[in-house]
Order: sequence, then structure tokens, then C-alpha cells
Amino acid sequence: MLSQPRPHADSVEQLADLIRGADSVVALTGAGVSVPSGIPDFRSAGTGLWEGVDPMQVAHIDAFHADAERFWAFYSERFATLEDKQPNDAHRALAQLERQGMLDGVITQNIDMLHRKAGTEELIELHGSIERCVCLRCRIFVPLGQARALIAGDPAGVPRCPDCDAPLKPDVVLFGELLDDHAAARARELCQRADVLLCVGTSLEVYPAAELPMITHRAGGRVAIITKSPTPLDRLGHIRLDGDVVDELGALLTVLDGHGDSA
Ligand SMILES: [Zn+2]
Repeated sequence: MLSQPRPHADSVEQLADLIRGADSVVALTGAGVSVPSGIPDFRSAGTGLWEGVDPMQVAHIDAFHADAERFWAFYSERFATLEDKQPNDAHRALAQLERQGMLDGVITQNIDMLHRKAGTEELIELHGSIERCVCLRCRIFVPLGQARALIAGDPAGVPRCPDCDAPLKPDVVLFGELLDDHAAARARELCQRADVLLCVGTSLEVYPAAELPMITHRAGGRVAIITKSPTPLDRLGHIRLDGDVVDELGALLTVLDGHGDSA
């Protein structure tokens, strides 16, 4: 009857019970949710993008200001790596939970647009997204497709603002930049009122992702951690699933669907 694999079935059942009994369920996702889509963790060493270059230096706001050409030589490759990637079943499972009224929203550390492509409606992108670039001088936004055309048409490979000619910046939070206040505040608000926070594929090491489960926990909500590697917040996890994110979320959907009629 159950076609999906069910790793750690007891815990998946427990998680399904928590979700059924919750008024508000929110998901927090990190790089691990996009690994099955072929996107390596940007922060991990040896992922191939510019071998030997530290992304925390070259994808830094100071590097953007100091040398836009070098910055864009790196970042346009990042665009090329990301823009054709497709969502996987973990992204789709979260979008389905939202459509079924069981998930209030997704907070993500990822900039790859995959939750949006999978159909998630209530999406908070803590670190922005490659969906657009911004001119820091006139605050206009340029969509990704147009930015790619500007990169291709510029002799130095730098997309420039159509109005003022300043180099455009990807509308993502670069290293050395502050988070968008509005996104961070909305994320805290969702975590504050969540009865269950599903932390999926995030190492929970980078601020503010490290802080958000604490907010849910302090407000009396339950924290479920679904990721392969240990996290610093495992002791908070009411439920801890350490299988593959696609398998675990697939199993969760199966259990929730299986009990849908009697709910
Ligand atoms: Zn401008």
C-alpha cells in the first residue's frame, strides 16, 4: 500500500501526528534541500566553482565594490550554474503540504528560486534570490533574464544599470552584508507562532537560521530537524530524522495522506 520508502518510520509517524495536531507549521530550509537538485553547498570546500577561490572573499560586498569585473566573473558563473536547476521532490513535498493547508510557509536560506519553482506561495528568502539584480544607486530591480543579457552584452561582463550605468548587484545577501530587515522580521514572526518548525536540510549554523528554532522552542513550539548531519541544535529537536531529505519528506507525505480520510 505504501509505495514510498519509510526511513525511521516511527519518527515520521510521530512527526505526522504533531503536524495533524498543529495550528501552524512552518518550514526552514537550507542548502541540503537543494543538493538533490545538483546544487552543492556553496559554503563547502572543494565544490568546484573557481577551484581554490574562497567564495566568502570573492562573493563579498567589499569585493563587489572594489572590483565589479572580478566579482561578476565569479557571480555570472554562479548564475549559469543555478538558473537551469529544477526543484526536487523535497521542494515539491513542501509545496504540496502548503496546498493541502498543512504548512503556513517556507523560510529558506537558499537563493536558487527552487521553492518558488516548486510552487511554494508563502516564501521568505532570508538571503534574497538570484531572481533579480538591484542597482544600489537608484534601487531599481532588473530580472535575471535581462541581467544575463546585460552580462553577455558588456565587454567586461558586468551588468550595468539601464538608468545610471552603475554595476548591478545580485539581489542576494552577499558575505559582509546585512539581512533584509523585513524578511528577517517576518521569519521571526512565523517562528514565534509556529506549533511545529520543520528544519529541513539546514546545518543551523549560520545566523539567523541558528536563531529561528530557538524562537519556536522558547514560545512553546516543537522543533523537528530533518537533515543528515548533526546540528548544534539537535538537543532542541523534539523529532530528529537523519535520512535523505527527499525520502523523509516523501515518507511524511505518505503517512499524512494515508490518514487524511480519518482526520
Ligand atoms: Zn542605477
